[in-house]
Amino acid sequence: MVLSSVLGFPRIGANREVKKAVEAYWAGKISADDLTKAAANVKKASWTGLKEAKVDLVPSGEFSLYDHVLDHSAAFNVIPKRYLGHDLSPLDIYFAMGRGRQTKGVDVPACEMKKWFDSNYHFVVPEFSESTDFKLNFNKPVEEFNEAKALGIQTRPVVLGPVTYLWLGKAAKDASPDFTPTSLLPKILPLYKQLLTELKAAGAEWVQVDEPVLVLDTGLQFESQFNTAYAELAPVAPKILLTTYFGRLDANLNFAAKLPIAGLHIDLDRAPAQLEPTITVVKSTSLVLSLGLVSGRNIWKTDLSAAIKASQTAVDALGADRVIAATSSSLLHTPVTLASEEKLTPEQKDWFSFALEKAKEVHVIAAILSGSQDSSVSEALEANRTSIAKRREFEHTSNDAVRKRVAAITPDQLERKSSFAVRQEIQKKKLNLPKFPATTIGSFPQTKEIRTARAKLGKGEITEEEYENFIKKEIERIVAFQERIGLDLLVHGEPERNDMVQYFGEQLDGFAFTQNGWVQSYGSRYVRPPIIVSDISRPHPITVKWCGYAQSVTKKPMKGMMTGPVTMLNWSFPRADVSRELQSKQLALALRDEVIDLEKAGIQAIQVDEPAIREGLPLRRVDWDPYLTWAIDSFRLATAGVSDSTQTHSHFCYSDFDDIFPSIQRLDADVISIEASKSDMKLIKTFQHYGYANQIGPGVYDIHSPRVPGGEEIQQRLGSMLQFLPDSLLFVNPDCGLKTRGWKETEASLINLVNAAKWARQQY
Ligand code: GLN
Ligand code: ZN
Repeated sequence: MVLSSVLGFPRIGANREVKKAVEAYWAGKISADDLTKAAANVKKASWTGLKEAKVDLVPSGEFSLYDHVLDHSAAFNVIPKRYLGHDLSPLDIYFAMGRGRQTKGVDVPACEMKKWFDSNYHFVVPEFSESTDFKLNFNKPVEEFNEAKALGIQTRPVVLGPVTYLWLGKAAKDASPDFTPTSLLPKILPLYKQLLTELKAAGAEWVQVDEPVLVLDTGLQFESQFNTAYAELAPVAPKILLTTYFGRLDANLNFAAKLPIAGLHIDLDRAPAQLEPTITVVKSTSLVLSLGLVSGRNIWKTDLSAAIKASQTAVDALGADRVIAATSSSLLHTPVTLASEEKLTPEQKDWFSFALEKAKEVHVIAAILSGSQDSSVSEALEANRTSIAKRREFEHTSNDAVRKRVAAITPDQLERKSSFAVRQEIQKKKLNLPKFPATTIGSFPQTKEIRTARAKLGKGEITEEEYENFIKKEIERIVAFQERIGLDLLVHGEPERNDMVQYFGEQLDGFAFTQNGWVQSYGSRYVRPPIIVSDISRPHPITVKWCGYAQSVTKKPMKGMMTGPVTMLNWSFPRADVSRELQSKQLALALRDEVIDLEKAGIQAIQVDEPAIREGLPLRRVDWDPYLTWAIDSFRLATAGVSDSTQTHSHFCYSDFDDIFPSIQRLDADVISIEASKSDMKLIKTFQHYGYANQIGPGVYDIHSPRVPGGEEIQQRLGSMLQFLPDSLLFVNPDCGLKTRGWKETEASLINLVNAAKWARQQY
């Protein structure tokens, strides 16, 4: 029989229960016990939901209150010393690592966060050194396995594999210069052994061990580590299903399939072509092959007939007992359920599947492959055929004007009129900014009042005009605030935006929106990605009204603010029927018109945020060039339409630029701001190394944490940055936007930032 499986489930809860409970705990409104109970209820609902969908292999242990990588660090005692000795409970140490902590007598910044492969999910980066004192503090997979078992549900626990876990980490400050985290494999294996031994003893038949590093080029260099690790683990562990996702195994398949494991999972959503070579290799082994057929990364209904057809080749070659029909990855990156969506049209609703609906899909695929005669299964398949046919019909419609405009893009549309050196002189005179201009990345705190006003507008409790007046008042306050504390290049603060991508999507044609389609970005932060459903165009100007208004109430220069085409694409659920390149270019043209309109409205500096350029990079190097070409072209297309005197800005967060630096240079933004405060000086040195010649604003403090950076601390950081970067090129700004922060810490932090800029003006 072909079994069905789901690799992981969203953690938030159908009604955002976990997010709310976690935040209430942070605010001191509920106890740790209450938080545990809220989490237990959500886990129970997920397990029961999956069982009701008739999924055979239900995951446990992948639930998290903050981040699953952080869960492993807490369990393995990979806790940097700075979080210890403050008399904090293990739970509070855990949260302090995730988000920093500034309470009575405790002042610690958060650990670094990084993007999880090519997704918009962020994990907390483990810090390792030779002196890392591994200990199994607790066994979360066993605890959650037992928790489900007590509810009568047998699960397949999920563990992040040792090679990937170590590989995701970084060298701690106290590590020697040539230390690499993966060298700790021999030290960490005993813990994994203990963990897996206990799981087996608890009655787990299978364990899902995630090793996504295997879809990367770098996976190849870990062949011997994989051999050592799994030779040690297999004898004591439940049957190991080694899972890979987000890409293809390629050459890594050869050694992965020979490991002493019981099953291998491959992602056929991202890499359908790997099915055939994998079958060939797996055939001569006794491995079970888990087919990732139902996308864990997108929300389109699976074409079940196509999935069944593809899997049939595996069944024919291996036999039904050696095939599992699964989601391509964890469903962490999709919303919980379509059931709560009331605003999508029935036509649209019929296009999508969220996590719970995807669970039903894997069941139907497995059931059909197993020869099920159950009428509900054949009915589900028939209904799916009808839905897919209708969607294909819709996909054949297009906006011809938009398609023609994309086809007619010329190289000169991607070029500014003059070189940066020429532009810089013109801009100096026009903008008249001081040396070390102090600025922010765009958003200011999204207060309860702002969210309430937006909600009231949504419910029709206030009129459009009342809402606009409210936003204008907000902008006035935000502008006055910036003038008062002495920032140089102002912003309007983005109070009108629910989210940097959703907001623009709502103003453009070609998108659909959910009411409850929350997807975790980091910790308790969730976003609702818009869905690109058809060709994209801009029916009317978007930001001009707000930025123009902000400029009208100040003499200081105002920086216009919008989200770039590649980020819009990467943080939306894209169409699956046309290329990402086409979608990106359509977005770029729409934004180009917006940039030109802003300039016409008298805005002299315009920031086009592209924080997602890096995360959209294909996981395999051979695929980089085509992506980078269209991605950077899209940014240039969006921004190059302005005159030399208009200063273009771009912004990036969590970006490792080392290996794509020439592309960053090719953006040719007049100023780029980057998240830099937590990355030591590595990022800064990259800019120096490549002789970056345009202006740059390296973030001087972390905005993901409520902690207020001291004046001295910012000065010192700025001082260190100036050892590597020319003072004539530097802007002074925070790491990122301030929308998630409160006003109190924002004010205190920015005052310290402005003082640091003033200090720098005296020193340099
Ligand atoms: N302008 C956006 C803001 O300030 C940028 C956010 C981001 O880069 N993630 O919120
Ligand atoms: Zn940012």
